[in-house]
Amino acid sequence: MATKTMLRRGDTVRVMTGRDKGKTGKILSIAGGRVTVERVNIIKRHTRANPSKNVRGGIVEKEASIDISNVLVVCPGCGKHTRIGRNLLADGTRARICRRCGVNLDQ
Ligand SMILES: [Zn+2]
Repeated sequence: MATKTMLRRGDTVRVMTGRDKGKTGKILSIAGGRVTVERVNIIKRHTRANPSKNVRGGIVEKEASIDISNVLVVCPGCGKHTRIGRNLLADGTRARICRRCGVNLDQ
């Protein structure tokens, strides 16, 4: 079952704990309560060359997922990491807002 989250792919988040604490980056993917964030939690994969697939051997650096509870979204309005609130707009749609400054995060 998917973990309930208000984060979305493309959001800019800050890592709050772990090896890459303090780094920020865009969410590349979200799955099963884990997120993959660009340039965060880089792992080195030792890849064997595979000429038929045109894959070169060697060490490939790649992002690995981290637990979704370790990141917080960075607000474009105030530039700080924040929890996400919900706001009902005049047209009846729901928007995600910054709990600090109230800026709409979905614009
Ligand atoms: Zn804000």
